[in-house]
Formats: sequence, structure tokens, C-alpha cells
Amino acid sequence: MTEQADILNLSLSGLSSALREGEVSSVELTRLFLDRIAAREDLNAFVTVTRERALEQAAACDKRIRAGTAAPLTGIPYAHKDLFCTEGVLTSCASGMLSNFVAPFDAAVSESLNRAGMVMLGKTNMDEFAMGSSSETGFYGAVRNPWREDRVAGGSSGGSAAAVAAGLAPCATGTDTGGSIRQPAAFCGVTGIKPTYGRVSRYGMIAYASSLDQGGVFARSAADCALMLREVAGFDERDATSIERPVPDYAAGLGGEIKGLRIGVPRQYFDEALAAGVRGVLDEARTVFEHCGCELVEVDLASLPLAIAAYYVIALAECSSNLARYDGVRYGHRCAAPRDLEDLYTRSRAEGFGAEVKRRIMIGTYVLSAGYYDAYYLRAQKARRLIRDDFVRAFEQVDLLLAPVAPTPAFKLGEKLDPVTMYLSDIYTVAVNMAGLPALSAPAGFIDGLPVGMQLIAPYFEEQRLLCATHHYQQATGWHRRMPEACQ
Ligand code: GLN
Repeated sequence: MTEQADILNLSLSGLSSALREGEVSSVELTRLFLDRIAAREDLNAFVTVTRERALEQAAACDKRIRAGTAAPLTGIPYAHKDLFCTEGVLTSCASGMLSNFVAPFDAAVSESLNRAGMVMLGKTNMDEFAMGSSSETGFYGAVRNPWREDRVAGGSSGGSAAAVAAGLAPCATGTDTGGSIRQPAAFCGVTGIKPTYGRVSRYGMIAYASSLDQGGVFARSAADCALMLREVAGFDERDATSIERPVPDYAAGLGGEIKGLRIGVPRQYFDEALAAGVRGVLDEARTVFEHCGCELVEVDLASLPLAIAAYYVIALAECSSNLARYDGVRYGHRCAAPRDLEDLYTRSRAEGFGAEVKRRIMIGTYVLSAGYYDAYYLRAQKARRLIRDDFVRAFEQVDLLLAPVAPTPAFKLGEKLDPVTMYLSDIYTVAVNMAGLPALSAPAGFIDGLPVGMQLIAPYFEEQRLLCATHHYQQATGWHRRMPEACQ
């Protein structure tokens, strides 16, 4: 078998050829990553490790590979966010409410990855019900950042991002409602893409805020994301907002020309909240794109300052409605010895949900209540429209937007105790979800040993452009190849 260090440096297509050439088997590969996961339990990146199941799946993949019937990603392991339903495997969404929920069916994304022959190593840790920006609010405790253990991994898909960064999996799934793929990707120094709303089926994704939720992927590079995204994107009639549109061969388009591309730099994203070091990293990224022949121009997204307030009204309103289903009756946590039905509902919910989720359900219920609906919910919807219109207008002038992902690199565990301070750190990510646009975060530099990400945002369905531009950037730089020393 090829050396461990060599394997960790292989891209997904490299792994695919190593499997096909018989340099390594899927069982060997799977065992290698499972052992690495076991050795780094301190990161708390996984809620469940499906060791037996993964090894069985890998053995079946090896047969397919030998028989010559394998698909490109057959036999390659991945880590799956514990928000996607997986038949027969605990699907907890990192909530006490679902800590006993073994999903009876597969999410569309789980199904697609199974069909592709990818091997699920386990389910990754996250913020409870994907509500958070640090992966600290979950029932199973906080995820640690592989670059520095006193730092958060970002959230809510912190477990997936940390797993890829630490080499516990070559790629992973995530979901992004207001930044949950891009921000942990930035904090952990990996590449993560949130596709256009409707591009990846939400069927079997546990709902947080349905008009914003979107599944996507993490990997070490844009080229790897391209391969995995191809598998999970596509129309699904079981998701009413899924869009019927062919999925391009993203990997084949990576070599496309980026010379002459117009990249907008939105003024409002470079405000006083942005740490000087992050601004410096973004300035360097601008220079790299200029050297690649792109034209950088300043643009305005005047409604950006409304984004946080409007997002935290809309997302919470939707969450209060979506989470009404956890009543202790059909599935999930049920309190012991209820006195009557009322007691069953209230106690099951009081015991099952964590503090942040309860806070959000209460705020969401409030903004939707008669008398407050017009003042909050309706106004937030109007702000959402303004934000979307700003982006549409900007994309009349430019092909892509370049922006920071977060105001600072990964902050300290336990540092942001006040919920509003935590919400404010989402300033650069939530607007994209309000508009439903595709966006990506890629490693662009370091501050004090902590990775910093850059965000690229594209017009609807231009995932290809995002991946292609990032691929050129990654060939010109090398930030995405760095791994934390302790994980090599
Ligand atoms: N941090 C944001 C929130 O807490 C986004 C989370 C997400 O994208 N799931 O709502």
C-alpha cells in the first residue's frame, strides 16, 4: 500500500486512479481514515463512526472496481453531516431531541453518494439543528479546530470541515443556511461550496429554515469539490424547490479561461467589522486574480447592512415552524411518565432542545405572531428582496464577487457567549442565502497560524464559474495544500 502521507496528499481523482490501478484498495483506504478518526477523537468531529458498515461498503466497492463496473468516485470515503438522514444510522442533528433517531430512509444526498459508490465513514458533529456559527451548541459538545485546539471549527458544519482539514476524510458533506459551509471551511482552511438554492435536493435534510437551507460539499480543493458536487446536484421531484436543469461536468470545466473575467469587490463587505489581517489576505487574493488576467472593480451592495437583522427574523420564523414537529409523539425524545398530553408536549420539548434552539423558537414564534408579523416578518421579507435585487444589479456589471467570509479567523472556544455577538459574525455570509446564490470559500492565507478564507459569489447556477476561478487561484497559490502539522 502507498504511504499514508502520500495518500493524504492525493486529490479525489488521484485516489480514484490509485484505486483503479490497484495501488490501494477501498478497504485499506477506509481503514486508514477510520484509524485517523479514532486517533483524533479529541477534535470531536464525529457524532457517529460507522466502522463496520464502512468496511463492508468498501469491500463491495473493491469488487466493483475489480469487475470494472466502478463509477469515478467508487471506493472513496467521505464524512457526512449528521443533518442528512441515513437509513439505519443515528441521525441526530446534534440535538438531544433526536439523540435516539435512527432514520428509516436516506436523504437524496445520501442516496446519490451511495449510488456513486462513496464510502460513508460516519456522521459529523455540528451545531444543534445547524443553528450556530461555531459548532459549540450541539448535544455532543464542541468541535475543535485542527489548527489550534483552543479555537472553534466554525459552524454549523464544523465537524465536516474539521474532518477534512485534519485528514480524517478526503471530503465531506455540509449544509449552508446562512454560512454553515463557507464559514467553517474558512476557519479550518478547506474549500467548501454552497450551491444555488434548488441545485441540491433538500429531501431528507433535517429542516432549519427551508427557504435558505442548501446542501453542499467540502474538500481540499475546488477540483475535488467539483467531482463531489456533480454527484449530489440535480433535480429531485421529492423537493418542491428543486430545479430541473442539467448538471454540468464541473471537473471538465475547471480548465476554462478566467482571463478577462470581471470580479466585483463589494465596498460594504470591507467595513469596520473586518479585521485588518483578513483585509490584507483579501487584498493579496485580489492581486492573484489580477495576475490571472481578471479585472477587479468596486461594486455596491447597498442593502448589505440589513442582512443580519432580516436573516435572523426569517431564519428564526421558519425554524419555529419547522421545529414544531418535535412533539414527543411521532419520533425523537419523549419525556418520562407524562401526566397528560400538554405535559407530554411541553416536557419533551423542554428536555429535548438546547438553549440556543429554544431561544430561536421563541423569537421565531414572536415575529410571526399577530400584531408583530407586519413589523418584523414582512419587513424582513422586503429587506430580503432589496438584498437580492442588489446582487442581481451587481451581476449586470461583473461575473463574480470577491469578499471575506468572516470578519476574523477562528475565534476562541467559549469566546462569544452573547448570542447577538455570535449572530453578528455572520455578516458576510447570510446575504448570499437570502438571495439564493451559489458561493464558495477557499483558503487564502494565514494569520497567526490560523487559516483565512476568501469568498467568491456567482450568479444563479454559475457553480462552474466559481469552481473554475478557484481552481486557477489554487494553481497559482498553494494555501489549500497546507495541513495542520499535528495532522500530517
Ligand atoms: N450561523 C447561521 C445561523 O446560526 C447560519 C447557520 C447555517 O448556515 N446553518 O443561523
